[in-house]
Amino acid sequence: MAIPIIMLHHIVDLPGKGISNWSISTRQFNLLLDLIEQKNLITTTFDAISTGNAASHQKLVVISFDDCPATLFDYAVPELIKRKMKAVFSIPTAQIGGFNMWDVTEQGFAKVALMDAEQLQYLSSQGMEIASHGQHHLRASEINETEFTEEISASKQYLEALLNKQIYTFTYPYGEVPKRYRLLLKQCAYQYGLSIYQPRQNNLALRRIGIHQADTAKSIAYKLSQSYQLMRNLLDPLLSLYKLIKP
Ligand SMILES: [Zn+2]
Repeated sequence: MAIPIIMLHHIVDLPGKGISNWSISTRQFNLLLDLIEQKNLITTTFDAISTGNAASHQKLVVISFDDCPATLFDYAVPELIKRKMKAVFSIPTAQIGGFNMWDVTEQGFAKVALMDAEQLQYLSSQGMEIASHGQHHLRASEINETEFTEEISASKQYLEALLNKQIYTFTYPYGEVPKRYRLLLKQCAYQYGLSIYQPRQNNLALRRIGIHQADTAKSIAYKLSQSYQLMRNLLDPLLSLYKLIKP
């Protein structure tokens, strides 16, 4: 899939402790949306692609949000709706209406409320895609295949019952993709898997493009370009090689 997939978490101007590495300001978010419009890119979702409802347009882009902080409703969600843009929202289902427990306990981040069931239903009714981010936001490298399968299947069933829609997409927590991911995701009837860096991407392990606080209009424009995608084709295999040889 050659569609650029943007990865975002928090859109806030005053991020709490630890959150700043995973957030951009409302001004940067606007810059991103402005650039998408200027480049005539059409925002889409994986469920629209799966059901054949995506625009038959050559220049598509996916905006994805991980973890579903409720603060996205302060600015990002109204702005997307105002601009008639679509996005994919990935939620760890055990924390619907809860908080970012994994960030708080593991890394001492500030506590952030996550979206509740009603907010997810609202997004879904607006044509946004809700994706599974597992139940408990666990690292694939720290659980076995049975536990991973339970995480992806129980979260999928929960969201399908909540939204009365098929769930097509799984977002790997921390971008960690287990060894036999194709088999595991296919067994649970997922069609797309969202990662971060991938040496050889395919629909069940897609690369994503992170936008961070240090990004400017220029760097965001580059990240939306074909040349950035080509660069990642070269960079991602090198990164995985580096990880292998690192002591
Ligand atoms: Zn996450």
